[in-house]
Amino acid sequence: MHEYSLVQALLDRVESEARSRHASAVHRVTVRIGPLAGVERELFSKAFEIVRPGTLCDRAELVVTGDDLRWTCEVCGAAIPTGRVLVCPDCGWPARLASGDALVLERIELEVPDHV
Ligand SMILES: [Zn+2]
Repeated sequence: MHEYSLVQALLDRVESEARSRHASAVHRVTVRIGPLAGVERELFSKAFEIVRPGTLCDRAELVVTGDDLRWTCEVCGAAIPTGRVLVCPDCGWPARLASGDALVLERIELEVPDHV
């Protein structure tokens, strides 16, 4: 299950962010997962529960949001509606996927002690 390695990589990144800001804990982690990212959102959340003990994310809330598929024309940049042939209505060029295939770390909320 590759969700585990993704979560591991995510936690590594969150931890190094948190440490560089002298945080004592992480409150909330928000990730955005596109429908073509090849990631099961449920498996991802489960993997997070399993991997996080002992990390700064031990009590963090994981928020997983979705993403829309967006296609654009590579030539003129026009947005191309889905649900029909994926070519540009203006110049006939094939559509290029503009978003929806990525896993993005959107936001980390940290607990930072006052005295630092
Ligand atoms: Zn075009």
